[in-house]
Amino acid sequence: MSQTPSGGKAYAAFHRRSIEDREGFWTEQAALIDWHKPFEQVLQYDNPPFTRWFVGGQTNLCHNAVDRHLAALGDQPALIWVSTEVDQEKVYTFRQLHEETMRMAAILQAQGVQRGDRVLIYMPMIAEAAFAMLACARIGAIHSVVFGGFASHSLASRIDDAQPKVIISADAGARVGKTIPYKPLLDEAIRLAAHKPGKVLLVDRGLAAMERVPGRDLDYAAERARHLQAQVPVTWLESNEISYTLYTSGTTGKPKGVQRDVGGYAVALAASMKHIFCGNPGETYFSSSDIGWVVGHSYIIYGPLIAGMATIMYEGTPVRPDAGILWQLVERYKVTVMFSAPTAIRVLKKQDPSYLTRYDLSTLRALFLAGEPLDEPTSEWISKGLGKPIIDNYWQTETGWPILTIAAGVEPMATRLGSPGVPMYGYDVRLLHEATGEELGSNEKGVVAIVPPLPPGCMQTVWGDDTRFVKTYFESVPGKLVYSTFDWGVRDQDGYYFILGRTDDVINVAGHRLGTREIEESISSHAAVAEVAVVGVADQLKGQVAMAFAVLKDPAQISDPQARLKLEGEVMGVVDKQLGAVARPARVHFVNALPKTRSGKVLRRSIQAVCEGRDPGDLTTIEDPVTLEQLRQVVKG
Ligand code: AMP
Repeated sequence: MSQTPSGGKAYAAFHRRSIEDREGFWTEQAALIDWHKPFEQVLQYDNPPFTRWFVGGQTNLCHNAVDRHLAALGDQPALIWVSTEVDQEKVYTFRQLHEETMRMAAILQAQGVQRGDRVLIYMPMIAEAAFAMLACARIGAIHSVVFGGFASHSLASRIDDAQPKVIISADAGARVGKTIPYKPLLDEAIRLAAHKPGKVLLVDRGLAAMERVPGRDLDYAAERARHLQAQVPVTWLESNEISYTLYTSGTTGKPKGVQRDVGGYAVALAASMKHIFCGNPGETYFSSSDIGWVVGHSYIIYGPLIAGMATIMYEGTPVRPDAGILWQLVERYKVTVMFSAPTAIRVLKKQDPSYLTRYDLSTLRALFLAGEPLDEPTSEWISKGLGKPIIDNYWQTETGWPILTIAAGVEPMATRLGSPGVPMYGYDVRLLHEATGEELGSNEKGVVAIVPPLPPGCMQTVWGDDTRFVKTYFESVPGKLVYSTFDWGVRDQDGYYFILGRTDDVINVAGHRLGTREIEESISSHAAVAEVAVVGVADQLKGQVAMAFAVLKDPAQISDPQARLKLEGEVMGVVDKQLGAVARPARVHFVNALPKTRSGKVLRRSIQAVCEGRDPGDLTTIEDPVTLEQLRQVVKG
């Protein structure tokens, strides 16, 4: 029996059908996109948990996002690029986006990129990044976008895993008015990586000087000029071919390449634009995320464009030139649907609230927030301030589109403070007991799990590692083949879910998912450090921040406060250099020993509790209680 939400009766029936008649339901949704060749089988599930959707069908993401709108919307805006960092704006119509994408596709083809080859995109939020993603999709190359905030070490491990033929990058990004050169980080990453890309295509924004490697580095403007008239037809792909990989952090130091298909993803996004986001062709969608994250893939690039909407690609922060910038853009481009993260709203909350009412927001129908828990005060503040519905949505890089939210396009059910909502169609969500796997009822805390087959749009596997896919996601609940989200949750009597935090060592800093293990590995590489534990600690602004506790090889090294401060700065510098500032811990505390169990396991949960001023829980297995006491003193400062 599937757990369908009560509340809206019509939605409950819609959800039930999506589980009980998967084939009928998804056949209908599949009609929302163009197929070059119809599929022969809706769902192939003979090798659980691997799921193949729309088998035998041929389609293309770029065709659905761009080409198919040319007839009706050719001269309408498609991509609206706004940068408050360099004070520029540029609007590309669907026709112009089509041309730019074909030029980029021709450049890639000229470098020998073929169907199935990987192209790594390490770029700031510039229009060329969108052209690059769409060009890959057009010719069947697999793109792997790496967030521009990641530094050399993170980038190198992704280069080695994806093995790209070509890397596309730029001279620099800009953040809060400061130029951030990308090219030196990229060069260092390529030096560190075992795999060497054949070519590196560089967009020169004129922000930072670049040293070019002869024979390897190509200039985008020069290459584009050569391919101005390019006509590159769409490569029709079988629905289950790979569209992209996107790396995400887990509990090990090695990030996972979340691998996505073509047809299932296109259908899932088209359906979500209709049922969840309620966006219409010709309107404008604004997501303030970054293309380096899954929200950027699904709801800056592919989702809105597939729906025939213009999409705003924004390089900037929510407070520059002032805290009204997001709303100013809503007014200027008549945004109807907006997507942001709770962190951005918490940043705005510290500013003059009158910014929320200075602009004409009459076109805006709803603000969607995702990526991290939406706390009630923030939700209430923004909802009152804007006078618009605020819709929380819960999902993951792995799922590609919301697991829990409200599908107002099916039935406008009420939202509930603190809850992202109810299970979306296609997701058979359950709450399971962590240790026994037993199914739990209302108001009982358990692991949020999804009974497979996962719906279209979700990850197919971990790139290059089917075993890891099954082991990581489907074998964590005893005795059951279910997908674990690794989130704790609880469901109220009406079927609304509440997310209560991660069950693993993944932390969420300002909506960015980070593995504490990766940060620990980076800190350990500092010569002075013997051992380290990193935990996520609650933070008013960012949701969570990373806090590090390091044991030094020679504690005498920090006998005076100045030496301590200097070493802390040095350790942070190592993280900045290897992983990027996004992973930098808020503090690095030095302790004599880490609290551990008698079997040698670091008691991360207890450390976290102490940092947050909570009860550290069951300490019967602790080897030396003094270690936790010392940690408490250090945190108190
Ligand atoms: P990511 O894959 O980076 O999008 O991170 C996914 C994780 O972020 C989830 O497993 C949750 O822990 C958290 N998350 C995302 N959206 C929400 C939300 N609306 N409410 C609570 N937690 C969320």
